[in-house]
Amino acid sequence: MPTYDYKCDKCEHEWELFQSITADPVKSCPECKSRKARRVIGPGAGILFKGSGFYQTDYRSDSYKKGAEADKKAQSTAKSESKSESKSESKSSDSGSKKLQAAAN
Ligand SMILES: [Zn+2]
Repeated sequence: MPTYDYKCDKCEHEWELFQSITADPVKSCPECKSRKARRVIGPGAGILFKGSGFYQTDYRSDSYKKGAEADKKAQSTAKSESKSESKSESKSSDSGSKKLQAAAN
């Protein structure tokens, strides 16, 4: 559970609060009871979050490409193997790979 920094615009009181990431931001100040409180995102935390997000996206797309290449290799290997099989068997495996390609697209 992350710690959020809050600041009151009215009395400038600052405090920290443990909150669930899905919880709504607190709006009332515990000091002056006004509704001027706002969640403060620290500059360090903001950059860290942004950076890790970029790296996660890059890593995900890269691994996805590698996975797609591996799938193509596996399919071509399966195709060459099916040539040695009987006609009826290779026919059914062909329609199966077509279904897989349609699902991938
Ligand atoms: Zn206040």
